[in-house]
Amino acid sequence: MDLPFAENYKIKMVEPIYQSTRKQREKWIDEAHYNLFNLRSDQVFIDLLTDSGTGAMSDRQWGALMTGDESYAGSSSFHHLKDKVKEIFGFDYFLPVHQGRAAENVLFSVLVKEGQVVPGNSHFDTTKGHIEFRKAKAIDCTIDEAFDTNGGHPFKGNIDIEKLTNVLESHTKEQIPLIIVTLTCNSSGGQPVSMKNIKQIRAAADQYGIPVIFDSARFAENAWFIQNREEGYANKSIREIVAEMYQYADGMTMSSKKDGIVNIGGILAMRNENWYKQAMVFNIMYEGFNTYGGMAGRDMNALAVGLDEVTNGDYLENRIRQVHYLGNQLIDAGIPVQKPLGGHAVFVDAKSFLPRIPKEEYVAQTLAIELYLEAGVRGVEVGTLLADRDPETKQNRYPKLEFLRLAIPRRTYTNNHMDVVATGLMNIFERRNSIQSGFQIVEEAPIMRHFTVKLKQK
Ligand SMILES: *Cc1c(COP(=O)(O)O)cnc(C)c1O
Repeated sequence: MDLPFAENYKIKMVEPIYQSTRKQREKWIDEAHYNLFNLRSDQVFIDLLTDSGTGAMSDRQWGALMTGDESYAGSSSFHHLKDKVKEIFGFDYFLPVHQGRAAENVLFSVLVKEGQVVPGNSHFDTTKGHIEFRKAKAIDCTIDEAFDTNGGHPFKGNIDIEKLTNVLESHTKEQIPLIIVTLTCNSSGGQPVSMKNIKQIRAAADQYGIPVIFDSARFAENAWFIQNREEGYANKSIREIVAEMYQYADGMTMSSKKDGIVNIGGILAMRNENWYKQAMVFNIMYEGFNTYGGMAGRDMNALAVGLDEVTNGDYLENRIRQVHYLGNQLIDAGIPVQKPLGGHAVFVDAKSFLPRIPKEEYVAQTLAIELYLEAGVRGVEVGTLLADRDPETKQNRYPKLEFLRLAIPRRTYTNNHMDVVATGLMNIFERRNSIQSGFQIVEEAPIMRHFTVKLKQK
């Protein structure tokens, strides 16, 4: 008999978590104004709010923390990380920042101006926020197949080259500061972008003289999908695939809280020296001196090791298998999820799950609250709350898809935890027709409202 698959690590340190009663959770979610971001972590049993900054570091990373160099200028930790960025991505110019949105803030301060447009594949919310904050516009050019949750397209993060070309054609070069390629595409379901598509984007960008920036939060997971799904890459290593992907980019922003497997930090890197010189000024103003940016020396050390681990050995196999272990249980139970399964999360199609809730009552948020009440599991809404209002008309933007995202932290939970999540959702699925109404907004912020919005039962 073949031996079954098992994780390629053992656990050296544990943190207790507590199961509460439904009665307790009813009280807590009411006190939190039906916003899961307002819960205390000890009110949550299994926390799938995000895979951002919630992973477990390795013993090598904890060791690297101890040898961090906290010199204000020129620390060896900065140079470790700079060398690692060059080795993996090939960029000469690197600035450390405190997280992904800080990289966006610094880079867009240099490149994005009022009235411009930034085409890309379902821009992440902070990316869109930083574009709109500068009174520019994010244009989503994701392929239509991404919005069909049942379609089997292997690369639903792809950019539709025709849509992109239309944007490039209908604007002047001066109106388009850059194209953003999000790897993997978080907002459309953790879906990867193929190498073929990356090459096509580059070719279109070159034709019109527009730079290409990779939003790289989950670059390694994207490479895994290329290795496993794209013809010609099965025998290439993750390192080789990443190197090939980044040949086609002029620069990158990265939240290292995802595929950096650290709890805080970010990367801004580029080829263009002129951009770098301008970015340094903003980095000093917003983040810190250029050899630490927003990071401690120890954090830069741990990130350098994390980048090494995420691109080597069986790490990605372990990671993605666990996400698919959860996803396949839901699929087997007939629960509608985004297919094929993505890399960091399972996206439950809330509109199909709860067809009786009108879109004005925040369908995915309603399902997220149900799952918390049922099992103490915290997921997150990726739907109308996240999509925010149109900056011009101030009307709610209703996205094509309403998801409950279950993001799996890296190396943190076991498959027993995944079983609890799956069973919780199956229980709700059984009684789904008894859920008749959703929520309404009581209070909201003018931008990125989902973090702080207050809701009440409709
Ligand atoms: C998380 C994320 C960001 C922003 O990073 P933070 O570290 O949260 O600021 C940007 N883009 C994508 C695709 C992300 O997943």
